[in-house]
Amino acid sequence: MKILLSEAEIQRGIVDLARRLDAEYRGKPLTVLGVLTGSLIFLADLIRRLDFPLRVGLVHASSYRGAATLPGTLEISETSLRDLEGRDVLLLDDIFDTGQTLVGLLERLEKKRPRSLRSAVLLWKEGRQRVERTPDFHCFRIPDEFVVGYGLDYRDDYRHLPYVAALEAADIG
Ligand code: 5GP
Ligand code: MG
Repeated sequence: MKILLSEAEIQRGIVDLARRLDAEYRGKPLTVLGVLTGSLIFLADLIRRLDFPLRVGLVHASSYRGAATLPGTLEISETSLRDLEGRDVLLLDDIFDTGQTLVGLLERLEKKRPRSLRSAVLLWKEGRQRVERTPDFHCFRIPDEFVVGYGLDYRDDYRHLPYVAALEAADIG
């Protein structure tokens, strides 16, 4: 594995994002909505850097790419999408890759009549985008490599690593 972003670099990126969000959302009815499971650690670290009132929600989204369903089919659990009407909603995800997950979620959330709706991601992968819309906030641009750690998994492993690393051929078995 090759480390792309160290623990310290990630924390600096989060402090910087928190500063931008403070300028944007302080005094507003903010709900930070994390996309499970990948945004788990990002969400926990980011909200502890925001020292103004806010609410936290979670949404579970999985895009199945196996043989059983069409590519890009997005399954969203609706349970935590109540009470977004009139709120400033910030959708938080781990990584912007093709963009289909984020765009699918934003379209669904729009129907909940939020006061505003924007998105933030930890990572934005270069050269993979297949949608018009881009994240409103991001911490880091990364090259087109498969990354793990800091919430991101490979077959459910590696989420707990405090850094972001690119998998190498030897790691894939
Ligand atoms: P998109 O819909 O933007 O193509 O994909 C977003 C989702 O695909 C992410 O939330 C993440 O679950 C997964 N994904 C995309 N690229 C990577 C990657 O490099 N590593 C990992 N672990 N997951 C990724
Ligand atoms: Mg994900």
